[in-house]
Amino acid sequence: MNLHLYDSPSFRMACQQFDLVADFMEIPEAARDRLKMPKRSLSVAVPVRMDDGSTQVFMGYRVQHHLTLGPTKGGIRFHPDVTVGEVAALTMWMSWKCALVGLPYGGAKGGVACDPRALSNGELERLTRRYTQELIPVIGPQMDIPAPDVGTNEQVMAWIMDTYSLQMGHAVPGVVTGKPVLLGGSLGRREATGRGVAYLVSRAMDTMGMQAQGATAAIQGYGNVGSVAAVSMAKQGIKIIAISDAFGGIHNPNGIDLNKLDAHVSSTRSVVGFPDAEPITNEQLLITPCDILIPAALERQITEANAAKLQCRIIAEGANGPTTPEADAILAQRPEIFVIPDILCNSGGVIVSYFEWVQDLQSFFWSEGEVMDKLYRLLEQAYMQTLNLSRKKNISMRFAALSLGIKRVHDAKTLRGLYP
Ligand code: GLU
Repeated sequence: MNLHLYDSPSFRMACQQFDLVADFMEIPEAARDRLKMPKRSLSVAVPVRMDDGSTQVFMGYRVQHHLTLGPTKGGIRFHPDVTVGEVAALTMWMSWKCALVGLPYGGAKGGVACDPRALSNGELERLTRRYTQELIPVIGPQMDIPAPDVGTNEQVMAWIMDTYSLQMGHAVPGVVTGKPVLLGGSLGRREATGRGVAYLVSRAMDTMGMQAQGATAAIQGYGNVGSVAAVSMAKQGIKIIAISDAFGGIHNPNGIDLNKLDAHVSSTRSVVGFPDAEPITNEQLLITPCDILIPAALERQITEANAAKLQCRIIAEGANGPTTPEADAILAQRPEIFVIPDILCNSGGVIVSYFEWVQDLQSFFWSEGEVMDKLYRLLEQAYMQTLNLSRKKNISMRFAALSLGIKRVHDAKTLRGLYP
């Protein structure tokens, strides 16, 4: 198969993971490319009028992985390193994630190569609206439903909803999830990914016979996932001893006061410089001695260079694709470390996105209690299915989660058949 269009470290990694699982599941060679290759991709040039009067053109993408089970679903990333290959890898992981937790979606992802922190609010709005306009032919409540990802938030989703709705001539809240609650967003969506991570950490601790009280955690990434996971874990009695973001990290073995940190982050936009902690680098954070390590930033952070040096007992993957297959091979030799794989660990986000979409389609909204209750039920089911398969077949948690997700998509494709 020619990977040319998508060839990139992340897409190769997603294919490598897939091939290992496909070998194990004995998926026939003929079915593999069909499962792997994204169905559609759209690249768009996004011209934006900048505040200084100049016009800058940004590259944007939307990739849809498979259309077998329903519309496609996945976030939109604003980050300087976005490429179509990275986006394609993220669509594959979205597909296996949605199938693992039983959502009627294929995976999708989108992104614009830009640095949102270097844009003014007006520039960000114009970029979002023009990018949305360019995506109109491929998105919609029955086609493809975007959501937040790295570098985007509720406000960006509100602009997407508004731009799409203006084109349609009526409000279409179901075109996007992770919106403000007032515009048809779901209660609990903003917190869903981080709370899901914390829930699964507590389940992993049960499995490992560990106590939350006094356990320690290090978190790479202090965005929507890392910051909410930190608060939820602190509520369980876990001490957060190290946190990093794109600019650097902080470490305090006695625990970081999250309220004070949030005040510092709101005024400086970074954890760096927080007075009650020592500075550390992102690389040091990953190998800091702790009970729970949470990569909640970007792909390919735990690699063959640092996997042997990790000093944690649980890795809870808040990010998508944080661990490379080479690192997985090293971790396979370290059974003392329990991995909650990304497609399970961070699935709380897309689960509540699904709830948001269902509520929008019905114009019937649920209480936060209902949302959380249904979220934890789906997470519990996926956790137990993954754990049971991993034990029964003596395979890693990642292998088990991927095989459950891939199997459902493969079976669905087989049932639908090949047209014509
Ligand atoms: N970007 C998130 C993810 O990777 C959420 C996607 C969604 O809610 O559709 O899972």
